[in-house]
Amino acid sequence: MTHEFSPTRRGALTGMAAAVGASVAPSTALAGRQRQTARRAAGSPDVLVVGAGVFGAWTAWHLLHLGKRVLLVDAWDPAHSRASSGGESRMHRTAYGPDALYSRSAWESLADWRWLSARAGLPVFHPTGVLFMSSRVEPYFTQSQQVHRALGIPLQVLDRQGLQARYPMIDFAGIEVALFEPGRGALMARRGVETLVAQFVAAGGEYRRLAIRPPATAEKFEAVVAAAGERLHAGQFVFACGPWLPKVFPDLLGERIFPTRQEAFFISTPPGDSRFGPASLPGWADFNGGDVYYGFPDLEGRGFKIAHDRHGPAFDPDSGDRIASAGGLQDVRAFMRRRFPDLAGRPLNESRVCQYENSSNGDFLIDRHPSWQNVWLLGAGSGHGFKHGPAVGRYAARRITGTLPTADIEPRFSLASKQTQQHRSVI
Ligand SMILES: Cc1cc2nc3c(=O)[nH]c(=O)nc-3n(C[C@H](O)[C@H](O)[C@H](O)COP(=O)(O)OP(=O)(O)OC[C@H]3O[C@@H](n4cnc5c(N)ncnc54)[C@H](O)[C@@H]3O)c2cc1C
Repeated sequence: MTHEFSPTRRGALTGMAAAVGASVAPSTALAGRQRQTARRAAGSPDVLVVGAGVFGAWTAWHLLHLGKRVLLVDAWDPAHSRASSGGESRMHRTAYGPDALYSRSAWESLADWRWLSARAGLPVFHPTGVLFMSSRVEPYFTQSQQVHRALGIPLQVLDRQGLQARYPMIDFAGIEVALFEPGRGALMARRGVETLVAQFVAAGGEYRRLAIRPPATAEKFEAVVAAAGERLHAGQFVFACGPWLPKVFPDLLGERIFPTRQEAFFISTPPGDSRFGPASLPGWADFNGGDVYYGFPDLEGRGFKIAHDRHGPAFDPDSGDRIASAGGLQDVRAFMRRRFPDLAGRPLNESRVCQYENSSNGDFLIDRHPSWQNVWLLGAGSGHGFKHGPAVGRYAARRITGTLPTADIEPRFSLASKQTQQHRSVI
């Protein structure tokens, strides 16, 4: 499987060659190769990835393309209904205020998502554009502009007059300014992950449906045990378990990753009315003084999507109730009366309850386990991780294979940076 056009992949490969040449002593490399050969002869993978959500699947993909033999497992299959990656759609935006780290990562990932979308039977990515509106010019907006200019990412600024002319289906009362991100848009989440895992298998990766027991305390980490008792050996292990991470590593992550209950609603658009379709309406977010609402046009007939981006109550991904609340629906309807008045009284098509798996501030976790050198922790997508899947997978794969230069290790992804109190700062 080639991946020839993606500039970011070229970057990763160049970095790998340099890092191998620079940092691995020949005797260490030889011993590593001998271990790998012995493991392969015994039929074990070089890396076993637990969790086939967006983070695990892209990591498995990149490991495979760095020459590793990879086994990817999931307890319920890729992007299943209760996984955080199992929703219908996820926004791909690059505006992150001052946070150039995430703007760059989202922009780099876009090439990979487009690549995947071109190989899928149905679109994985809808380039609807993304509109981010606000009642005033917030620092977040000016900082986003600065970052986009510095990174060379296209971004437009629209004033009230321009907005009203372009999007007459939105009531812009109280809105002064908006950022428009051309070419960004909506990722079809479940379809995207399923397509990627199919590509991974077609390219020589192995996928199995297996539930892995939380690891027992041991000095050396040589194998994981599946629910049915099977022992699975590998050279390295990646736990990309999304909102289940605190259950898999209760002592380490029980107080550092906070799963919260999140609701999203799909509203019926008027029959035959194309104003709320993707050709007319982009993905949108209303900054709303920092209390963000966001949504999508009616994609593939599912309905106009709307959600309130505030953290809900604590949530258990196994037993948490998935029936959306009447209060949540009232809340988004009240917002629609203001901003999308022609939809406010329309029937509800369906709703979803999913979970964010928040770190203390919204930064991802991509780090080695503190006790086991060959175990990696990957998660804390914190309600914004999906779009970054390709970049996260590439970064994780390079760390795991020892091909990421030390200078490129990002302290914000470290376990040490994860606090036990929530102070969301990545928006
Ligand atoms: C309502 C909502 C809206 C969102 N909107 C956006 C958005 O607009 N843009 C954006 O970029 N992001 C968004 N996100 C965030 C994004 O969806 C998540 O950050 C991302 O999907 C997390 O992926 P993951 O791979 O870490 O976790 P998951 O997708 O949950 O995958 C983890 C997998 O691990 C498996 N697993 C766990 N434990 C075990 C075990 N012991 N054995 C085997 N398998 C196991 C699970 O079955 C699961 O499939 C949103 C999230 C939600 C809930």
